[in-house]
Amino acid sequence: MDWAEHVDEDAERDLVRWRRHLHQHPELSFEEFETTAYVSAMLDEWQIPYDRPLPTGVVGHLRGRNPGPTVAVRCDMDALPIEEQNTFDFKSGVPGKMHACGHDGHTSILLGLARTLSEMRDEIHGEIRLVFQPAEEVLESGARHMIEAGAVDGVDAVIGLHLFSTLDTGRISLAGGPIMAAADVFELTIAGSGGHGAYPHQTIDPLMVAAGLVGQLQTLVSRRVSPLEPAVVTVGSLHAGTAPNVIPGSAFLSGTVRTLSESLREQLERELRRMSELFAQAHGARVEIKYQKGNPVVQNDVQLAGFLRPAAAATVGERSVVNMAPTMGAEDFAYYGSVAPSVFAFVGAGSRESESDFPHHHPRFTVDERALGIGLRFFLEAVERTSSGQAELPT
Ligand SMILES: [Zn+2]
Ligand SMILES: [Zn+2]
Repeated sequence: MDWAEHVDEDAERDLVRWRRHLHQHPELSFEEFETTAYVSAMLDEWQIPYDRPLPTGVVGHLRGRNPGPTVAVRCDMDALPIEEQNTFDFKSGVPGKMHACGHDGHTSILLGLARTLSEMRDEIHGEIRLVFQPAEEVLESGARHMIEAGAVDGVDAVIGLHLFSTLDTGRISLAGGPIMAAADVFELTIAGSGGHGAYPHQTIDPLMVAAGLVGQLQTLVSRRVSPLEPAVVTVGSLHAGTAPNVIPGSAFLSGTVRTLSESLREQLERELRRMSELFAQAHGARVEIKYQKGNPVVQNDVQLAGFLRPAAAATVGERSVVNMAPTMGAEDFAYYGSVAPSVFAFVGAGSRESESDFPHHHPRFTVDERALGIGLRFFLEAVERTSSGQAELPT
């Protein structure tokens, strides 16, 4: 595949233009209607057949003349409920909504891949499946919905990337194994028996139970998990009471559990339930537990990651291909790993001079736009490895 001539300065300018358009028009999870229309119109223009298995999201099909594997390349398209504090002229035009995770960039990169490959589709061996996925940012994962709707049926591999502001522009991380955490959510409603603050012995104080549990739950990590194994329990909200002299009838707390292995994930759920029930019981209170499983662990297939490493090296140079330590952040890309071997790359998009080193989900988050071209070249190099007939996908 001779794609290099197709990725010139004009093509890079288009990536920036598309990304800025999307940045100005952010849409929340499962509401990406304009984004879906924007992507569909481009695929129409490039005569790429597609379907829309969900109300938002697009799945393009680029089939070559030669037999070969079906390789899905995935991006996400949703924005976040954040009021943008950037001041550049393409800042969000929608109050309270913002592309603060880089998904505008991901969509732009996948559009770039679509256009470039559409100009040389005969050379593709097999099929490149272009998965423009909705709703990455919510527990009700868009990836899961896309998979259930058949978007990646029959694929042999799935490749994705995330622009990453904590990785310097010009670097790509392509580690094998677990790279992002499983993320579950728990809600505890503690029922006691309220009364006058002056007569606590006549009540069962749920607030005291809740406050105690905040500390006790940390012992799951410090006493029940090997210090060599990563785990996080965070209580992120705690609500109880209305007045200084009233013991409330109930208290509520919620939090997140992060792990890098399925076995530890199950262990922590079990122990969190037990700790909450027995701690409440010890104080005469009752607890109602709602435990919701979120994204599983993002597991980069070790062989596929090794197979794609030369693609990253060809894009940024061998020395700039790194193995970032796993993060306890989560990504619904994880679900694709249950369908086929999958690899998720981190593409550096942070630089001080372009003020793109704010953390993801920060109101001043933005990406270094030089990373758009890098992301596109990485995808093209990857596709060259998987779908040009030169090499067999690892099995
Ligand atoms: Zn995000
Ligand atoms: Zn993201």
